[in-house]
Amino acid sequence: MLYNSTRNKNLKLPASLAILKGLSDDGGLFVPQEIPVFDRTLDELKELDYRELAYEIMKLYFDDFTEEELKGCIASAYDEKFDTPEIAPMVYAGKVYYLELFHGKTIAFKDMALSILPHLLTVSAKKNDVKEEIVILTATSGDTGKAALAGFADVPGTRIMVFYPKDGVSPIQKLQMVTQTGANTSVVGVNGNFDDCQSGVKAIFNDNAFKEEIRQKGFCFSSANSINIGRLVPQIVYYVYAYCRLLKDGRINTNDRINICVPTGNFGNILAAYYAKRMGLPVNKLICASNDNKVLFDFLKDGVYDKNRPFILTCSPSMDILISSNLERLIYHLAGDDDEKCALLMKDLSEKGRYEIDDEMKQKLSGFLEGYATQEETLAEIKRLYDETGYVIDTHTAVASRVYNSLKDTLTGEETIIASTASPYKFASSVMKALSNDSAGKDDMTLIDELSSISNTEIPQAVIEIKNAPVRHTTVIEKEDMKKTVTGFLS
Ligand SMILES: *Cc1c(COP(=O)(O)O)cnc(C)c1O
Repeated sequence: MLYNSTRNKNLKLPASLAILKGLSDDGGLFVPQEIPVFDRTLDELKELDYRELAYEIMKLYFDDFTEEELKGCIASAYDEKFDTPEIAPMVYAGKVYYLELFHGKTIAFKDMALSILPHLLTVSAKKNDVKEEIVILTATSGDTGKAALAGFADVPGTRIMVFYPKDGVSPIQKLQMVTQTGANTSVVGVNGNFDDCQSGVKAIFNDNAFKEEIRQKGFCFSSANSINIGRLVPQIVYYVYAYCRLLKDGRINTNDRINICVPTGNFGNILAAYYAKRMGLPVNKLICASNDNKVLFDFLKDGVYDKNRPFILTCSPSMDILISSNLERLIYHLAGDDDEKCALLMKDLSEKGRYEIDDEMKQKLSGFLEGYATQEETLAEIKRLYDETGYVIDTHTAVASRVYNSLKDTLTGEETIIASTASPYKFASSVMKALSNDSAGKDDMTLIDELSSISNTEIPQAVIEIKNAPVRHTTVIEKEDMKKTVTGFLS
C-alpha cells in the first residue's frame, strides 16, 4: 500500500514515510492509492475487542509495519490510559446511540488517535533510519493540543510545540495545556484565531529553506495535526467497532445500514467515517453537523466552499474553523482521485479563499447530509436531552445531537450513531449555563462540582489533575512570530 499526495499522484510513499512527513511538500495531504476493503466479515470482526479490531483495520493501511510493531503500537496506546476497557463505549439516550470517544487522558476524542500517533511515529522513524530528533508542531483549537502534548510528553527522540489561539479555547482547555509537564514540551498562545495558528504551522512546513536549516541542527518536523494519515486511520476503528457492537448486541442485523452523525470542524472525524464506509461498513448517511461557522454546511449544500466570512467564537470552540484541512482528501476522492483537479481547487482556496466543485463531484456528495446548530439551539439541546433522559452531553456533541434531531424524520437506515467528542466536564461552564439558571459568575471548578451532582457522574481524573497543577507555559506571541518562536525552542 502506497500513499500519494492529493496534489501529486506521482509522489508515492509507504505508510511509515507518510506518517513521518505528515504533509506532502507540495502542500497536499497523503491518501492511500486505493482505499482497502475489509478482509474479514463484520460478523467475524464483531467478536474482537477494541485492540484486536484496531489491528485488523490498521494492518490494511500500515502494511510496512510488521505485525509485532503494529500490535506494539496498539497495545501502548489503548491501555489503562482509557478509563474503560471498552475504550469507546456507547450510550443509548433519546432513541439514538452516543458513541463516547472521550474516555482517554484528555477527555476529548483527539485521544483516540493521539494516543497512538507517537508510537506510530517513533516506529516509523526507526524503520526509516531517521537520525534527527522529531519536532512536532501543532496548531490547536483546544483539544488536539492537549491530546498531542499528553501523547508526546517525554517520548524519547521527540519534542512538541503547540500553538493555540490565546482567546479561542475554553478555560479548562487552556489550563490543561499550560500545566503540561514534560521536558520536551512547549505551549504558546497566539494573538489570533485557530486558522491563523494552522496557517502559520502550514507555512513553516512548506518552508523548505527553514526545514533544511533545522535539519542541519539535527531536527526534522512532523505534524500531529489531523492531516496526518497516522491520525486518520486510527479514527476509522471506532466506527467499525460501534457497528460491530450493535451487531453483537442484536440491535441491528447483518448488512443493516446505520447513519453516523459527527460534530465537524477540520473534517477529520467524519472523513474517518467516510473511509469506514468505503471499506465496506454499511452506512446510509454521513451527517455533517456544523456550528455557526457553517462553511461545511454551505459547501455540502451548494458545492461552494467559501471561507470569506466572519469567524465566530462559539461555545463549541473545537469546531470554530473556516479552513477544514481534511476536506481536501474528500475533494480528491470526489474528483475521482484526480490530483490535478484537486490541486487547482486548492489553489483557488489559497488565492481566493473560495472554490466551487463541478456537477459530477456534487452528485457524489449524496452520501452526506448536512445541518448546523446555532449556539442557542446547542444549549437548548443539552437541556432537552438532560430533561428527557438525565444524560448530559458536551457542547460539541450537542451540535450533532441537535442536527440529528432536526433531520431524523427524513432519514432511512436502521440506527444512528452520534459521535460524542468530548466529556461535558471539559466545557462545564457552557454545559451548566444550559442546565442551570444560576451558573453566571461561578468559577469553572464550582460548576464542575455542580455538574457532577446533577448528572450523577464522577469528575474525570483529567479534571482533578489540573485543579492544583502549577502553570508552566506562559508565552504569548503575535501570529507573525511563530517561526522565530520555533527557532528559539530548538536552540
Ligand atoms: C476536534 C473536535 C471536533 C471536530 O473534529 P474534526 O475532526 O476536526 O472535524 C469536534 N468536537 C471536539 C470536542 C473536538 O475536539
